Amino acid sequence: MHCTFKTFHVGAGDCITLLLQNDNKEIHILVDCGKFTTEVKDYICQKFCKRIDYLIVTHFDNDHINGIIAMLDAMPDLTIYHILYNCYQRTSEHLEQWDDKMIENVKRLYGRLPVVVDMLENKINAESSGTLADLILTNESWKNAWRREYITSETEPIELGENMGRLRFLSPNQEALNKLDKEYRKLFWQKLYKKKEADYKKEETIYEALMRIMLENEKVVEKHSVSATDLDEDAFLKYADESLNPLTDSNEASIAFVWEHDSHKILFCGDASPKVVSDKVKDVYADLPKPIVFDAIKVSHHGSAHSTSKEQLSVVDSEHYFVTGGAKVRPSFQALSRIVTAQLPQGVTNREIRFNRNNEVLKTLNNTETLKEKFHFTVVANCNEYELSC
Ligand SMILES: [Zn+2]
Repeated sequence: MHCTFKTFHVGAGDCITLLLQNDNKEIHILVDCGKFTTEVKDYICQKFCKRIDYLIVTHFDNDHINGIIAMLDAMPDLTIYHILYNCYQRTSEHLEQWDDKMIENVKRLYGRLPVVVDMLENKINAESSGTLADLILTNESWKNAWRREYITSETEPIELGENMGRLRFLSPNQEALNKLDKEYRKLFWQKLYKKKEADYKKEETIYEALMRIMLENEKVVEKHSVSATDLDEDAFLKYADESLNPLTDSNEASIAFVWEHDSHKILFCGDASPKVVSDKVKDVYADLPKPIVFDAIKVSHHGSAHSTSKEQLSVVDSEHYFVTGGAKVRPSFQALSRIVTAQLPQGVTNREIRFNRNNEVLKTLNNTETLKEKFHFTVVANCNEYELSC
């Protein structure tokens, strides 16, 4: 079989495809979409022939969800067989209607959905659209494709069939989802001015809206500035040693998973926690020597300073790291230094950092010839495809 992993340049966000081919069978997987660009659209139309077998929305941050909203809006004829998207999970089948007061309050809420801002250019790309939940629920076929149980690290692996491997889930844990649920009940009370006592029709859409509005308000600005001359070996090693801050609740709740087939594995970290991911990897692949060398790794959270840990590198490693999206200061030197200063696993002589756009951070790193030689890594921008045959 043949596997093509591809990341797309969608501004600050993520958009990743996995095309699996065996004889004349194909499986099409789309993971997140921050911006529905022409390149993404062409790929979905031409390579995916307007069919997505698995649509995986890792979490509801704007930079992962907005392109999906735009895509479903623009392509109502898109065939989707499975949607994996953790949103509100009903606990009862008796759903209440929205009363007039609630309709009014939800309408007000929609008006506050974040506008789509390109973090790189700092300009508004689109006025706020509706929610993804609403789009899915109003299309009968997509609604049926939406898997309603939460995806967690305890979810049974999904067998893809046709000898094309399986999806194995590593994150989130139930605790992270419970935390969001608690937050949701609080927000419901604050913004809809009533206690959440029942489950409502299309409540998923209220959940998504409240969460996205909340997230927009809690964005943390990461800053660091380093010039090429500052970046010597000592500075680099110091970055690797910096302590990690906790992630936001929504990133903690991000789906992370592995596509695996025989001995081949690709790790999709979403924006997930490095601890949750590596603990689960240790558990799932208990018999394999560590670090486990993956064919490719999609680095967590656009390479931010707190989502790749040294400890994680002792559990998972790869020759091919893909860093995607992020604002100007991403990827961070902290994440990059943790990756490249970790001891090379057996059989790996060089690590390649691929980034789906060029920027100052990458240029700086690419100019440090001594570091590249010492730690055996290369930096490649705009080289977004990775293929393997097995
Ligand atoms: Zn993100």
